This record gives sequence, C-alpha cells and structure tokens, in this order.
Amino acid sequence: MTLTLTNFTQFENFGHSLRAPSYRFQIKCAEEIEDVICLAKKHGLTVTARGAGRSYNDAALNGGGIMLDLSAMNQILEWDSTTGLVRCEPGVTLAKLWQRVEPDGWWPPVVSGTMFTTLGGCLSANIHGKNNFRMGPIGEHVVAFTALLPTGEQITCTPRQNADLFYSMISGLGMLGIFTSITMQMKRVESGLLEVHAWPVHDLHEHLSFLLDKAPHHDYTVGWMDTMNGGKSLGRGQIHAANYLHGDEDPNPKKTMQLDNQNLPPYIFGVFPKSILYLFMRPFANNLGWWAVSTAKYIASRRQHVFRQPHAAFHFLLDYVPNWELSYGRGGLIQYQSFLPKETAEDAWREMLTMSLQRGMPSYLGVTKRHRPDNFLLTHAVDGYSLALDFKVTDRNRAKMSQMLNEFDKIVVQAGGRFYFAKNSETSAEHARAFLGEATIAKFKELKQRCDPNGVLESDLYRRLFEQSY
Ligand SMILES: Cc1cc2nc3c(=O)[nH]c(=O)nc-3n(C[C@H](O)[C@H](O)[C@H](O)COP(=O)(O)OP(=O)(O)OC[C@H]3O[C@@H](n4cnc5c(N)ncnc54)[C@H](O)[C@@H]3O)c2cc1C
Repeated sequence: MTLTLTNFTQFENFGHSLRAPSYRFQIKCAEEIEDVICLAKKHGLTVTARGAGRSYNDAALNGGGIMLDLSAMNQILEWDSTTGLVRCEPGVTLAKLWQRVEPDGWWPPVVSGTMFTTLGGCLSANIHGKNNFRMGPIGEHVVAFTALLPTGEQITCTPRQNADLFYSMISGLGMLGIFTSITMQMKRVESGLLEVHAWPVHDLHEHLSFLLDKAPHHDYTVGWMDTMNGGKSLGRGQIHAANYLHGDEDPNPKKTMQLDNQNLPPYIFGVFPKSILYLFMRPFANNLGWWAVSTAKYIASRRQHVFRQPHAAFHFLLDYVPNWELSYGRGGLIQYQSFLPKETAEDAWREMLTMSLQRGMPSYLGVTKRHRPDNFLLTHAVDGYSLALDFKVTDRNRAKMSQMLNEFDKIVVQAGGRFYFAKNSETSAEHARAFLGEATIAKFKELKQRCDPNGVLESDLYRRLFEQSY
C-alpha cells in the first residue's frame, strides 16, 4: 500500500488539557502497521499507537509525529463460551468484550472505570479495576498476545514464551511494539448482578481502615472521597464493596445476564437525554458549586445500606454521563493518581489534600482503591491504596497547578509511592526515575534497544519521562 503524509489532525488527551497535532493513519490489519512504520522510518518520524484515546495524559499524544489509530482493528476473533477464552484484535473495546461474553455467563476479570477503552490501550497501561487487591492488573489474565516490533519482527508472548517481553510490553505504554492480537481468560459469573454494600466513612483514617478491613471479605471495593472539606472531615466519604452472587442467590440469572438488564439507560430520570447532562454540570464546576455538590452527596451517603446492581452499572458509573469531562470547561482537567503503601498513605494524603484546599485548588473528585503489587516491569501498584484526584485547569491556575502537583510528586516519592502512566501529566523524568529505580530503567532501556533500535515508537509521554534517561 502507498501511504502519504496528508491527514494532519489535532489530538487531545481525555481530560482536554493537552493538545498535539499528528499525521493520522487509521489501520485495519497488522500489514498496514508495518507500512506505517516503514513510512515513519523513511521520513524520520516517530509513531504512537492510539486505541480510544482515553488516557488522561500524553500517553497517546505524539506532537509532530504519526498517530497510529487502532480503533478500527476491532474484531473479536474467537470466543469459546465453555472455557472463557477470548482472542481479540487490539481495538476491541471493553464494551464490545463484556457485551459478547456476559450473556454466556462470563465477565472480563479486570475492567477500568469506563467501558470505552480498547484492549491494546488497557494492556499498554496494564489497567487495574476495583478488584486489584484480589485479581491484580489486566496483564495477569492475558494468556498470550501477538505483537509487531518496529524491527519488523512478529512475536508471540505468553508468561513463559518471550516472558521478558510479556512482562514489559504489558505496562510498556506502546514503546516496545504494537499488540496485534490478545488472548484473555474471562471470569465465570453466576448472575448479572452484584451485591453492593455501602458505608459512610467520617475521616481519612476511617476511610483507609475501611478499605483495608473490607477488602478481604469482598470481590470489589472502591471509595468516594469528599475532597472539598478539610479539618476533622478531611477524607470523609463513602465505601462501596461488592460481591458476586452465587448459587440460587439470583433467582433468575439467565435474565439478569441479558444485555437489556445491563445496558446503561439512555435517559436520566426517564426524561433527560444523558448526552446533554454534562451541560447541567457546568455551572457547578467551580469551588463553591462543587463544595455544595460534595457536601450534599456526603449527607445523602450517610446511611449504611445494601443493594443489587448490574455489573455494568457498578463498574462504569462514569459512563452514565457522556462527555462529563467537558463540564470542566475550556482548560479541561488533570487527573492525578498516586499509589501509596498502606503504612504511609494517610500522612501523605493528609498533607496533599490540605495543601490543595489551602491553595484554593481543591480536587473536585476523589476515588480510592485497595491494591497489591504485581510483576510487570513498569508497574504502578503497591501493597496499599490509590487516590485519584480530578483538578480543574484554567488559564489562570495552570502554572500554579503544575507546581502544586510537582510538590505532590515529591511527597509521593518520599513516602515510597508510585505513579500510573495513564493518568498524571505533570510528573517529571526525575520523579519517574526515583520511583521506578535504576535497575528498572536499565532493563526498559535494554528492551527498547532490542525491539526498537531506531527509536520509532515515541509519544509525548515517552519524551517527558524517559528521554532524559537515555
Ligand atoms: C473515565 C475513565 C476512567 C478510567 N478508569 C480507569 C480505571 O479504573 N483503572 C485504570 O487502570 N485506568 C483507568 N482509566 C485509564 C484508562 O484505562 C487507560 O488510560 C487506558 O490505557 C485507555 O485505553 P485506550 O484504548 O483509550 O488507550 P489510549 O489512551 O489510546 O492509549 C494508551 C496507551 O496505550 C498505547 N496503545 C494503544 N493501543 C496499543 C496497541 N495496540 N499496541 C501497543 N500500544 C498501544 C498507546 O500508545 C498509549 O501509550 C480510566 C480512563 C477514563 C477516561
């Protein structure tokens, strides 16, 4: 195929806080990936793979280079409903996957908070779900993948075959090669519903203690944190913990596993189309408005209760409001997620949350999870917790915000924490080096040299975090 550099397109991150123009190529098969890599080499350009572009940061941006759009390489190639093994092209979204397997009594073992991500993007970031403490990241459920390296080599990796590439391409941010097919093991479920327990928590100490204590007794846990109130209320919020239903706990599992029971409703309160809801959120996207929303939500959350919820509704709450990120306005948002050991998390987050309130730049949303470590090279997980914070960016606060998040990074590094490369956009090469360690950087550098000796695969994130180490 003859390719030309014509389609120069402006790309944005999911939070709309960053922009970068690139030559876009939407490809449909592995051979076309090779063609694009050849073209890049010929013109001395770099290439970044892009799935659904749902990363909050610059992981799928490549200013001045080529954007390899894999979203149309999206076929489910094989599905075995007796073993739960599925083989997919990398552009298959989690939405397409769960909708295929759930009616047969299976569910993806790890999902992100949105169903619109692609499997290629999920493996590259090695996503975690609300069950990370129990199931690990998505990479632990990958049986095999095939990939194309910039050298032109086509490889197959499993935990035993090409194991070093298996454990580094998963989590490797698309910098070693491009996934061309992914085989995963799904999880058997006996019902389309989860039993969800909700508890209020009154401060940061109680919040983290609940996450720790509840996790061993549940399949999933997640916390909402009211990040607008400080003092004695700092860290208050609500914990949700969910369990699968077993045996005859669901009297009609065939029905609850049908898609009609899972799909998110198109209307809110049966009247307002979901697609316009973000416009109603806009007037609240300021410090006073969000303080009122958070305070009201906390008051409404003070009752301990138990309810049943479809899998999709529990996992993909954020998808209820399409384009919710646009409610943050022109400057967009930055999501800052830090992962801290259970011993140091409370003090570090107390300092960070207090700082954000004192500087008048509070986070509008806080989400907590419980985690455990894993064996992937660029892992973000720890034996502890994560806290994801959403910050509104404006022309006026951009520089001050960047400085504050840099100070957060120092606190996290000093507390023995880690960062997640699908989220933070302000982390520097120095802080990445500090948390990854010299041995990990050296290993990554060696693999990069082996898989991509000409340095074709690069992204804005790669240049921000790794270029100085090379
Ligand atoms: C609302 C929301 C909620 C989220 N919740 C969670 C969560 O709960 N847990 C979590 O872990 N993450 C979460 N995320 C982050 C998200 O899961 C990751 O950013 C994921 O990588 C996005 O997938 P994508 O298909 O959009 O990938 P993109 O953003 O397009 O790309 C991400 C990375 O993958 C690389 N890539 C893409 N396709 C390939 C391929 N075929 N081969 C090689 N590299 C490739 C890209 O180069 C890039 O480095 C959330 C994001 C949003 C917007």
